[in-house]
Amino acid sequence: MHTYESLLAAVTTTSGETREVLDPATGERIGSVRVDGTAELDRAVERARAAQPEWAALTDDERVAVLGRVADAIEASSDALAELLSREQGKPLNGPNARFEVGACVSWLRATAATPLPVEVVVDDGENYAELHYRPIGTVGVITPWNWPMMIAIWQIAPSLRMGNTVVAKPSEYTTLSGLALAAVMNEALPEGVLEVVAGDGSLGAELVKNPAFGKIMFTGSTATGKKIMASSADNLARLTLELGGNDAGIVLPDVDPAAIAEGLFWGAFINTGQTCAAMKRLYVHDDVYDAVCEALAEVASKMPMGRGLDEQNVLGPLQNRMQWEVVNRLVEAAKSSGARVLLGGQPDSEASGHFYPTTLVADIDDANPLVQEEQFGPALPIIRYSDVEEAIRMANAVDVGLGASVWSADRAKAREIAARLEAGTVWINSHGGVHPMIPFGGVKQSGFGLEFGAEGLKSVAVPQIING
Ligand code: NAD
Repeated sequence: MHTYESLLAAVTTTSGETREVLDPATGERIGSVRVDGTAELDRAVERARAAQPEWAALTDDERVAVLGRVADAIEASSDALAELLSREQGKPLNGPNARFEVGACVSWLRATAATPLPVEVVVDDGENYAELHYRPIGTVGVITPWNWPMMIAIWQIAPSLRMGNTVVAKPSEYTTLSGLALAAVMNEALPEGVLEVVAGDGSLGAELVKNPAFGKIMFTGSTATGKKIMASSADNLARLTLELGGNDAGIVLPDVDPAAIAEGLFWGAFINTGQTCAAMKRLYVHDDVYDAVCEALAEVASKMPMGRGLDEQNVLGPLQNRMQWEVVNRLVEAAKSSGARVLLGGQPDSEASGHFYPTTLVADIDDANPLVQEEQFGPALPIIRYSDVEEAIRMANAVDVGLGASVWSADRAKAREIAARLEAGTVWINSHGGVHPMIPFGGVKQSGFGLEFGAEGLKSVAVPQIING
């Protein structure tokens, strides 16, 4: 069990090549992390490969028991992990943020360990008998982003380990302490070499992807990086799961009660201060309820406190890094200069010490505006007016990504009809963005391919084998 201080000390490096880690809310120095190169990557790969046969030779029950102990270890150090996550990523401890994320790591591990994956008898007709088994791939490479640095790492690592693979993980260079800390705690319960972590930026990620040791790469991040990974994994024919960017639409039908859906709309868009792959990033609202929905949403949004993550009253935090702040600022400025109406926010405090961008709602905005067409990945939501639902469906589908979408209506059957026509991996009805360890999750179009979670998620980190006879 760790305290914040002991955990930070365990993952801070002061000698050799290091990088300073600054708190995104205050700019204060938190610690420093090592910067690994190809030699450290090669050593990590060697250790993970050496550990794999013994790990795969355990029975499934034995691996499940180990994963249970990993979940216990995370739970025992959850306060320390949440504090470190809050300080490095910026997300508040409170609300659906840092404590929630660490809690999700524990519950995802337990659910992944408990998911049944029985051998399938595919033919048994008296003449033929064939079974479908799922075998380990070998060593899996895991590359993760900075928005949910612990939870997304668990989403990739837990099924990989359950299926008898070992893992080399590379956390984002923006949230390396969180990745190293999570792995340090997990390694209290894992055999040596089963989970290795390397610390570095995209160039180290690119080296990892090229390494022929990996039979599978699990990647979550931007569409642009996903394309590079696909190209450079081709030489090894490494299998890929790509969870990429999104620009999720929400469609509000005229039959809703605006006050009743306002809070759901808010969290659908602003969870993790908007830095969420499957957050609602464009909201299409029918003319009949447009003004009432805008008003109800602005009312809810104006009451959500934003500030330093360690202060308990806050439920929204800073953007994690300046690069993302610049994206949000550029897109909101583009909306403002087009004549769109700012309902809330839109004026960052130039004196603020951290990367804070205020909660921003932009109404009466044209669908072609960059704030609608590009992924803002931050706390700024464009609200587009429509009068014909066919037009809303067309606009929702007219982007090249398709991670999530949502339909908001009092008529579930009508909402399901519209859902079926939306080009997205998940369509939620009267909510947006919720995930569950037993419900498969993945994108369509340029949001990637492959499914995570549940039995489908286990299959994606294994290779099928038929035993025929
Ligand atoms: P990113 O693509 O910049 O970086 C993600 C990871 O890839 C980092 O670890 C980075 O170091 C590494 N990387 C960068 N270049 C690489 C290369 N050439 N080869 C191998 N690895 C490389 O993404 P980000 O800015 O960290 O995350 C934000 C993006 O991730 C958003 O677009 C968001 O929508 C997306 N995202 C998607 C999901 C999902 O489940 N679909 C979840 C979270 C985030």
